[in-house]
Amino acid sequence: MSILVYIEHAEGAIKKTSLEAVSYASALAEKEGKEVVAVALGAIEENELAKAGTAGAQKVLHIADEKLNAGVIQAHASAVAQAYEKAGADTLVLAKSSLGDAVAARLSVKLKAGLASNVVALPDEDGGYKVKRSIYTGKAFTSTLITTPHKILAVKKNAVPLKEYGGAATVEALDVTLEEGDFAAKITSTDKATGEISLPEADIIVSGGRGMKGPENWNLIEDLAKAMGAATGCSKPVSDSGWRPHHEHVGQTGVKVAPSLYVAVGISGAIQHLAGVNASKNIVVINKDPEAPFFKAADYGIVGDAFEILPKLTEAIKAI
Ligand code: FAD
Repeated sequence: MSILVYIEHAEGAIKKTSLEAVSYASALAEKEGKEVVAVALGAIEENELAKAGTAGAQKVLHIADEKLNAGVIQAHASAVAQAYEKAGADTLVLAKSSLGDAVAARLSVKLKAGLASNVVALPDEDGGYKVKRSIYTGKAFTSTLITTPHKILAVKKNAVPLKEYGGAATVEALDVTLEEGDFAAKITSTDKATGEISLPEADIIVSGGRGMKGPENWNLIEDLAKAMGAATGCSKPVSDSGWRPHHEHVGQTGVKVAPSLYVAVGISGAIQHLAGVNASKNIVVINKDPEAPFFKAADYGIVGDAFEILPKLTEAIKAI
């Protein structure tokens, strides 16, 4: 019996969140005495796929059909279902993401499998297969009982440690049958937003609020973000005012993020903003008001004027 891990990749590399999913699966496999098999779809080099071995996969099934490059959800679900059967799996593990959610939902129906999303810990088998999940944007946890023989677990970003065994996985080509109906909804073009780092997947985010006074000052946020290899975000009023695009708006009504480091500059820390960032591992707040509520949620805080601090911080980071 095996655990199948659906691997996502971008720009020739396996996504970190997918390596976390492999790490989770390998800890689960150890507990249940199973093998970890991963599956990757579309164009990606074999030596990159072998890296799934470092996180604990024994084998990677590579379905290289170029029709899968476009990320058509139904086609991905169909291909993963065939890999699941080939691997003799009873559990599918994947990273929680927009593509992962869509694929998991379809496979849950196809495989008649109980699905738990936002999983943060290994299942507890006392009295059933109970899975701990993060809910309400990380403010609470719930225990979900899966009762079906087949199971799907979507692992929350940054919730499990990345394993590094150092071994390579064997990569095996797999041919699957894809029907016309699998491509019923086609992506006809994709425009990448100006080469920036994607906010939901970023490991570091520098985010600005109304304290930045206007869009003409955003070069200070962008310079720091560039020096740190970070994505840029903002508070809701900033995007509502048209200072920044809406896809950068973080919070309850915007993007929910879970980076290793969230730097909030000139953001007060309203509860609706915090709802989008409280899954961050470390929060640094820069605000001139020592009473700003964000400081209560911060791991590190700098009280001062962003216009003085940001250039100095950027220079200091560039000098490292
Ligand atoms: P402000 O509250 O104006 O705070 C600006 C901060 O900058 C202050 O703390 C100030 O001390 C500081 N500052 C000023 N000058 C400087 C300086 N020179 N240097 C350093 N610091 C300085 N908001 C979101 O962000 N995301 C959401 O998803 C969201 N959803 C919402 C949903 C609902 C239903 C509602 C009612 C509100 C929502 N909001 C959301 C709005 C939220 O309540 C706050 O109004 C908003 O987050 C405040 O944005 P801000 O911190 O940028 O601005």
